[in-house]
Amino acid sequence: MVQPLQTIAIIGGGIGGLNLAQAIKVYKSSLQVTVYERSESPSSRPQGFHIGINTWGLESLKEAKIGGIDEIFARNTVTGFTVLDEHLSEMLRIGGPVKPGEKPSKLATGIIDRTDLRNGLVEGVNIVYHKKFIKYEETDDKIKIFFEDGSTVDADFMVGADGCWSKVRAQFTPSIKYEPTGIISFGALMKGFSPEEMPTLNKFLKYSMIRTSSPSGYSVLIGLCHPPSGKPDLFFGISFPENIITEPLPEGKAESLQFVKEIVRKDFHPEVLLIAERVEESNVIFDGFYKTRTTNYQAENPLSKVAHKRLTLLGDAAHAMTTNKGMGANTSLKDSIDLAKALTTDDADWPAAIAKYEDIMWKRGSKEVKESLIMSWRNHQIGWKFTFGKYMMKGVNGILWLTGMNSK
Ligand SMILES: Cc1cc2nc3c(=O)[nH]c(=O)nc-3n(C[C@H](O)[C@H](O)[C@H](O)COP(=O)(O)OP(=O)(O)OC[C@H]3O[C@@H](n4cnc5c(N)ncnc54)[C@H](O)[C@@H]3O)c2cc1C
Repeated sequence: MVQPLQTIAIIGGGIGGLNLAQAIKVYKSSLQVTVYERSESPSSRPQGFHIGINTWGLESLKEAKIGGIDEIFARNTVTGFTVLDEHLSEMLRIGGPVKPGEKPSKLATGIIDRTDLRNGLVEGVNIVYHKKFIKYEETDDKIKIFFEDGSTVDADFMVGADGCWSKVRAQFTPSIKYEPTGIISFGALMKGFSPEEMPTLNKFLKYSMIRTSSPSGYSVLIGLCHPPSGKPDLFFGISFPENIITEPLPEGKAESLQFVKEIVRKDFHPEVLLIAERVEESNVIFDGFYKTRTTNYQAENPLSKVAHKRLTLLGDAAHAMTTNKGMGANTSLKDSIDLAKALTTDDADWPAAIAKYEDIMWKRGSKEVKESLIMSWRNHQIGWKFTFGKYMMKGVNGILWLTGMNSK
């Protein structure tokens, strides 16, 4: 007979793993949950960009009772997404400004500082830092986990929440690959920005994130995030298909930044150049240019093809996707709630609940992987395809405006 679960080991203290730990506490506080995180301390891993948390993510964070969420969202919610051409002329606007007293639509997204979010997620969770998972051994009644420092722990169940380069996945389901998409990205984050200096962009930035694209395949993403006081932070990202670059891409922050400024000078509106010119080396996230990647799309759930009972995957570890639809963290958060419910199912029913979770998780995740990749290519169209896309978007925009689906 299957024994009820008592100890859960979560590998990876990222957004999904931490929300899972919090949600388990809400549903069944008697379960012993430990998060094993490879970073040396809560602040040693750079958190990167701000993150767009939509209704999926917000509801999942609220379900796990993460502290401070309402206040963070009240400061940072945008109610639209605007796509502009290279002259900053509107091609498509989804959502729009909310009039005083009106409720934001389901499209509302919180542009959240990752550190803000993390502070709420770690609160009260048992996290062991500096524990890098390397392998596991599963037997009928437990799972043994091995760490790089030579230590081991036994648990009743293990969750691989160790992100896009998941080591748990590499052992468990090696058919899930994490491959380059052919799109290159670059991002920067600037503290204390004055958007008023860019009147055209600022009109949209007041309520939306902005994507501005050029017919040569380059695409720029701009958004604001509001700290508790002072001027907003501005994030600026640029991406393009690798094959439009004829010379080797520069390496390192300074060289990449110089290259980006030249692209923006050639291809974009002076207000976008104004932003690019302000970016300093210290604002650049990661090491400059990076190859975007995705897990390979598989319609059939690969977890169901591997005999297992005492482990599963969550979030990017199962279905890492490109950032173009802004769904990676939101999907991971949604997984965390479904998995928390499965793990806290009464007594001996948990293996069936986990199998059901894996089916739902895979269906949702693989759909987002596929759609995110399609959007990555759609955002980087070249020549006549760009022009065709532009008039298609303008047509849809007109319909949204006429039907009142966007605020006018
Ligand atoms: C530039 C950028 C912008 C993005 N914007 C958005 C957005 O707007 N909206 C959105 O929804 N998503 C966005 N994403 C994606 C989002 O960040 C991820 O999908 C999300 O963080 C996945 O959460 P996770 O918990 O599954 O993995 P992660 O957050 O990556 O967490 C994994 C954790 O596991 C740890 N770990 C890794 N290996 C080991 C190991 N061997 N042992 C122990 N610990 C380990 C890591 O240190 C990390 O803490 C963006 C991503 C990037 C790069």
